Amino acid sequence: SRKIVMKKQFNGTPTLEDFEILEEPLNVIQDGEILTQAEWHSVDPYMRMVSVGLKDGEIMPGRQIARVLQSKTTAVPEGSLVMGNFGWRDLTVYKPEADVNYDNFYVLQEMKGLPESFALGAVGRIGNTAFFGLTELCSPKEGDTLVVSAAAGAVGSVVGQIGKIKGCKVIGFAGSDEKLNWMKNDLGFDHVFNYKTINIDEALKLAAPQGVDCYFDNVGGEFTYHVMNNMNLYGRIALCGAISSYNSDKSKPYTIPVNYHNWIYKQIKIEAFVVTRWKSRWLEGITQLRDWVLEGKLQIKETVVVGFENMPSAFISLFKGDNIGKIIVKSSP
Ligand code: NDP
Repeated sequence: SRKIVMKKQFNGTPTLEDFEILEEPLNVIQDGEILTQAEWHSVDPYMRMVSVGLKDGEIMPGRQIARVLQSKTTAVPEGSLVMGNFGWRDLTVYKPEADVNYDNFYVLQEMKGLPESFALGAVGRIGNTAFFGLTELCSPKEGDTLVVSAAAGAVGSVVGQIGKIKGCKVIGFAGSDEKLNWMKNDLGFDHVFNYKTINIDEALKLAAPQGVDCYFDNVGGEFTYHVMNNMNLYGRIALCGAISSYNSDKSKPYTIPVNYHNWIYKQIKIEAFVVTRWKSRWLEGITQLRDWVLEGKLQIKETVVVGFENMPSAFISLFKGDNIGKIIVKSSP
């Protein structure tokens, strides 16, 4: 079996030289265990944060959709597809726990004809991040103005579309014209801006003259400072991610401008979250998301990279904004 390790601790944005692909012997499968082969791998921004705790030479963490080649447990039939938090490896021997932990392992639910790779994106953890983060923390109501950052990415593109389903005016920020066109023409966003080329305050004044009620934040940093300054009374902010700082030097304090006066005066609710908070409602989320996709209410785009050996470049591309929608890697034998 093959695995990909972090050869040495990343310094800033990861480079191809920081990774190494290695062969490793596979354990013989025991009672209660399964042997799986990866079909789709996920690469995600969080891996950059988790990498800080890895030792040189350790396997990169990551989830995958895998086919069960052999099974010695009745709980997981041979031939079935599973979502596993197995790391960057192609073959895995794994012992499923008695209680399902949706963060680590589950047998895929019925996809009703949708591509199985969606279970790594909109019909999986990514979709639940958008669904629960937005609906539970931002409480979007009909007529609310919702701002989304990294809005053409995996999470952001789903957030914006759920915002439309809930009757919000949706304003999305992303980093290329191709992304803006997709958001505006296919996803139904009301206003789209390229945060790299515009003045964020002016864009918000233009698109949200009455102010912002909900902000779903994927990027953090200075961008977020500007959105926070444009929040309405009792505005709700869901802090989902801060990708703009993931490659920054962790030994230095991370400073962003803060306007406390505005937060207090506007009585803004700011809440950070990790999607596993809703693990007891996991299936409720992904069933709803799957049905919205089937009903045509959620458009899904994937950026597909072919070849296990290309996982490092796929991962690095997240920080350059090369992906539209969810980036996934198709495993190759
Ligand atoms: P995306 O598909 O959105 O990919 C990342 C995108 O971020 C890029 O395409 C790029 O788009 C944008 N980006 C990269 N660098 C910067 C930067 N310096 N400033 C602004 N934008 C940047 O990834 P995901 O949808 O998987 O993740 C989005 C966010 O959600 C991440 O912060 C992630 O950590 C977080 N997350 C949090 C979870 C939770 O439980 N809290 C669960 C899952 C994800 P562009 O071209 O627009 O710059």
